[in-house]
Amino acid sequence: MTSLQSEIEQRGRRIFELVDKHPESLFSKAGFYQRLLTISMRDEQLKLQLFRFVDVLPSLRTSGEVVEHLQEYFVEAHDSRKLSEFLGAGIRLARIVPWLSGPILRWNVSEMARQFIAGRNSNDVLRILRKRRTQKIGFTVDLLGEAVVSETEADEYAARYLDLLEGLARETRNWTDPLGKNSELFPVVNVSVKISALYSQISPEDPADAIAHLAPKLRPLLRRARELGAFINFDMESYAHKNTTLELFKTIFTEEEFKDWPHAGIVTQAYLRDSEADLRDLIEWGRARGTRFAVRLVKGAYWDYETSKSRQNGWDCPVYLQKLASDANFEALTRLLLENESIVTSAFGSHNVRSIAHAQAFAEKLGIDRSRFEFQLLYGMAGPIKRALVDMGYRVREYCPVGELLPGMSYLVRRLLENTSNEGFLRAKFSENVPLEDLLRDPCETLRRSRNGVLPSVNATTNMTTTTPRTQVGAPYENAPLTNFALPENQEKMRAALRKQRKQLGRKVPLTINGEKIWTDEIFSSVNPSQPDQIVGYAAEAGIPEAERAVAAARAAFEKWRRTSFEERCQLLERAAQILERRRFELAALEVFEVGKPWAQADGDIAEAIDFCTFYARQMRLKGRPRLTQNVPGEESYQHYWPRGVALVIAPWNFPMAILCGMVSAALVTGNTVIMKPSEQSVIIGAMLMEIYEEAGVAPGVLNFLNGKGSVIGAHMVDHKDVDLIAFTGSREVGLWIWETAGKTREGQRELKRVICEMGGKNAMIVDSDADLDEAIVDSIYSAFGFQGQKCSALSRLIVLEENHDRVMERLLGAAASVRVGNPEEPGIVVGPVVDEAAYRRILDYIDVGKSEATLAYQAKDVPPHGYFIPPTIFAGVRPNMRIAREEIFGPVLSVIKVRDLDEAIEVANGTDYALTGGFFSRSPANIERVKAQLEAGNVYINRPCTGAIVGRHPFGGFKMSGGGTKAGGEDYLLNFLIPRVVTENVTRHGLAPDKTPEYRDEFLWPKQ
Ligand SMILES: Cc1cc2nc3c(=O)[nH]c(=O)nc-3n(C[C@H](O)[C@H](O)[C@H](O)COP(=O)(O)OP(=O)(O)OC[C@H]3O[C@@H](n4cnc5c(N)ncnc54)[C@H](O)[C@@H]3O)c2cc1C
Repeated sequence: MTSLQSEIEQRGRRIFELVDKHPESLFSKAGFYQRLLTISMRDEQLKLQLFRFVDVLPSLRTSGEVVEHLQEYFVEAHDSRKLSEFLGAGIRLARIVPWLSGPILRWNVSEMARQFIAGRNSNDVLRILRKRRTQKIGFTVDLLGEAVVSETEADEYAARYLDLLEGLARETRNWTDPLGKNSELFPVVNVSVKISALYSQISPEDPADAIAHLAPKLRPLLRRARELGAFINFDMESYAHKNTTLELFKTIFTEEEFKDWPHAGIVTQAYLRDSEADLRDLIEWGRARGTRFAVRLVKGAYWDYETSKSRQNGWDCPVYLQKLASDANFEALTRLLLENESIVTSAFGSHNVRSIAHAQAFAEKLGIDRSRFEFQLLYGMAGPIKRALVDMGYRVREYCPVGELLPGMSYLVRRLLENTSNEGFLRAKFSENVPLEDLLRDPCETLRRSRNGVLPSVNATTNMTTTTPRTQVGAPYENAPLTNFALPENQEKMRAALRKQRKQLGRKVPLTINGEKIWTDEIFSSVNPSQPDQIVGYAAEAGIPEAERAVAAARAAFEKWRRTSFEERCQLLERAAQILERRRFELAALEVFEVGKPWAQADGDIAEAIDFCTFYARQMRLKGRPRLTQNVPGEESYQHYWPRGVALVIAPWNFPMAILCGMVSAALVTGNTVIMKPSEQSVIIGAMLMEIYEEAGVAPGVLNFLNGKGSVIGAHMVDHKDVDLIAFTGSREVGLWIWETAGKTREGQRELKRVICEMGGKNAMIVDSDADLDEAIVDSIYSAFGFQGQKCSALSRLIVLEENHDRVMERLLGAAASVRVGNPEEPGIVVGPVVDEAAYRRILDYIDVGKSEATLAYQAKDVPPHGYFIPPTIFAGVRPNMRIAREEIFGPVLSVIKVRDLDEAIEVANGTDYALTGGFFSRSPANIERVKAQLEAGNVYINRPCTGAIVGRHPFGGFKMSGGGTKAGGEDYLLNFLIPRVVTENVTRHGLAPDKTPEYRDEFLWPKQ
């Protein structure tokens, strides 16, 4: 055993001895909290329900509501025997006297919250701080609050921080340092600040904008803290905010005014793989600055969030996946901090005795006096450890959250999760009674042994998705990951791509028919909607003769293409996907210029196009081989599919690559030949898809690119006898015309035309009376105004229950007023320009209609004067029969409809011609089930935005006047492009039949390849 390890064990044992004198009551105290912990640690499913119930409870207004939720969460969903252990007579009582058990439960939960939240306001908290002072424990105070969704809320927060600071300074004026040594490093007043509370529009892709807004809000607070001799700490939140927080810290404390101020600190999260690099960088910065600063080292509070978020997005997971790795890294960073004690003051934020003892032992080894660093622990947790540390002569500071119960719920749930985590130290020590030796074991050593001597590299990244090819049958399907714009290298790639695209503006693209590039006399120009005098590109425009040539070329190419094996066709799509991936930033940048898509949305469009290629290739592999229909002796009957023929693809501009590529790829992989007609507004992106398929090796005539007016060439080809299938996504007007026209049979026509038709929506989201408004407001704003409301899935009617209406409106209008509107070449823009002048005029006309029908509740004022920018607009007092509540607007206009109850909400939501997307915000399990069953929409979203469908995960498409019921990105989508066929053979000869018939056989292809 190394001398350091034996020193750690000695110290650890000493701490435990002291702890055992005053055991932790957290896990043993009788009552509601203890029962909640015990039951949560035994039953994961019940734990989930319990925590969800705790989360919703403070927002319930009446005892009746409490009882209803109790029934829904537990009695209906669970074994009520287990539950009565926890609630005792609660449930039974609830049925009999709701007014009695409602208040009792609420009281219990608020008592539990009080265990972790030090007070409602600064007066409250002072009582606690005074008590701690007598115990020689210092404080840092943090303000809990609702998620900040608007700048009004952010300003209120900043003012509260300032008040808190003043109050604390006033009330603690005569307090002295508990150790009386090195007190200049540790001001008595210490305030912990979260940057997300001070600016509502932090976008990971634009740290510069966040810093520009945060610095002016922070300066007055820092200035005042300095005057009052206080300390300010920047807390660390999710990974998406990490770089911004670090940059902000370095920027502001390098400014002349704060350069020589030593009382600023920041948090390093040891569960992050890149934490060592960040800490080294901070230390280097500190040395260059030449003034001390502080670092609170913690493991990190968002482990569950970070792992699920990265898994959802297919990103490298930023946190370690083994608890021991976080522990080991905490120790490595502890050593790094203490070795640099000359410039950085350390605070070790942990309740883990091993982590604490290691810091003590290493400081001792370096000869650092125990008054020169501190241990920080959370209010309401690990009381005996705090006491032990004080007894040992160490500096201890308690982290004291202050705030109301409702906003404090997410903090409370984090603490409950931490205390019941299988991996947590406190549970191991105080609940499971794990032996001392195990608790004090060297995490590095244990890791080394468990991995045959291989330690995880601190710099290694872990992609939590598999590396199996995405399209192979059998392997789980993996979507193309979205670009993580929180990473500076991706921000730079996007900037570089925009610069490059800017130089290529004005390019010219020809038609492609039968592999030939064709120029016509008519040239169409595509403009940048942010700057209409800027031409993005010129495209040759087809007339009827070119349309005729394209149909003839596709028809001629069909015979060979239909006999090409499906495997070859799948590989074509996979090559196209690889090229899309390679050109990803370039194409996303082009979308910014051609259709005004903000960065992340443009990137999402390319990712979706990649997904369509890989997903449809995979689906074709599943459907391509003839499959036995029934196993009967003596007869083989196989079902398989033939392509339909010539497919005409007519695509919209709003997902200029994804929708076009999706329809084209589905048609190609199923063996149809294709004429693709992109929207006139996004013709240059359409031409890029042609280029990509040519590079991927598509044969002449199999895919043809025709740009032109829908009313001329589109209409001609829809009605053409040689076109067998029309895949259309666009407006209701054109969609219905295509549906009708395609139904007429023309002389010489071979097939009944198949129409795949996806049209618009008038999408509604309902906000229930118990909804989490933090979520509901942010998601509604994003769904309504993201990409200027020009998604067919966009939110257009927000239906709010009257109990919640006023609060929703107050926060919604504030949030709308804070949304960033501007040229989407800038990162972090939410609302850019609408696509062209016609759209601009049409939407403004609708806004006039809205003004005459309803009340204009909000309209943005300062939108850019040039370009097709429509100010985000909200109408209140909208009735379901008004035009703005019935007609599709396709712009950043939101109607709010107030309803009495959920019955009326569902009736209103379903009361339109459309059924595309719909959503519901609620924490009532029964209401959620009801909406799942009753909302008329092809895609129903609960407690999340109603846009952003992902291929394979959310097959997309609606019914009623929204479409023909097909699901793009779904397992059965390809069937729309295919004709099923069955081949039956009698295989008996004089009664002799084969024993076995295989389930699949080779394709019926002639000539055989
Ligand atoms: C005073 C104070 C201030 C804090 N401030 C912040 C802050 O600003 N930002 C912040 O993010 N956190 C902060 N934390 C940390 C956080 O809230 C937790 O309390 C802390 O991570 C628990 O660590 P521990 O050493 O006490 O317990 P332990 O039980 O030893 O460690 C638990 C921690 O290990 C990590 N972990 C759990 N499972 C795994 C796994 N499978 N793989 C890898 N790692 C895993 C997680 O970080 C988890 O919280 C603070 C903590 C304290 C005490």
